[in-house]
Amino acid sequence: MEIVVLSGAGLSAESGLKTFRDNGGLWEEYDVYQVATPEAWHANPELVTRFYNQRRKQLFESEPNLAHRLIAKLEAYHSVQVVTQNIDDFHERAGSTRVLHLHGELKKLRSTVDDTLVYEAGHWEVKMGDVCARGSQLRPHIVWFGESVPQMPVAEKMVREADFLLIVGTSLSVYPAAGLAYLARPEANIVLIDPAEVTHDLGEVRHIREKAGAGMQCVYEELSAL
Ligand code: NAD
Repeated sequence: MEIVVLSGAGLSAESGLKTFRDNGGLWEEYDVYQVATPEAWHANPELVTRFYNQRRKQLFESEPNLAHRLIAKLEAYHSVQVVTQNIDDFHERAGSTRVLHLHGELKKLRSTVDDTLVYEAGHWEVKMGDVCARGSQLRPHIVWFGESVPQMPVAEKMVREADFLLIVGTSLSVYPAAGLAYLARPEANIVLIDPAEVTHDLGEVRHIREKAGAGMQCVYEELSAL
């Protein structure tokens, strides 16, 4: 069976990373337009760099959780493609081998003059003056609000080919990523894991109202028995 996992910030909440929209989420502390847009970068690269340094430091100090591990373990039984909105690397660290990052990767940096120059951040801290091979300041390898999402066509094809769409920890409110769920074939099973109500218009969806770990335990038991 071809399973596509569409994951969002809620999947990493039990690893200690904050989501954006929940109470206590990142947007309560920061104005997104001051840290996650191209305009923010141009206006105040120091602030943006500091914001992502904090996120990266926390990521280096955190671990994947049970839900990430169970998603990875499903590969023993099925073909599993992860399409994630998350910028952390927990899917990879948990052992998933097919991971598409829609919104970039926190542990990568890239040139501000040449998009093809992408580097691994070996350390959490990026300083002003850290430059690419062509001498320009390194920026986070993140898709900011207002930027295009280059991996969308690849992700769309993956979702269209899925027999089973497993949506975990996303409010389905950040577009275009949220629109992916609507591309599933009518005969595909759709399961949603989220402790909260998620507003959608997807038709027949089985909503498991649990946190990612408990919800994945339930889904893993079912899918590994098929
Ligand atoms: P969101 O914050 O809009 O929604 C998070 C969803 O997760 C909510 O529906 C919430 O009810 C649910 N949730 C909260 N705790 C959960 C848990 N323990 N288990 C399962 N679900 C839980 O996040 P989004 O839909 O991913 O979109 C926001 C954007 O934020 C994305 O573009 C993403 O790139 C970015 N983001 C990423 C990270 C990360 O990489 N870990 C963290 C914060 C934000």
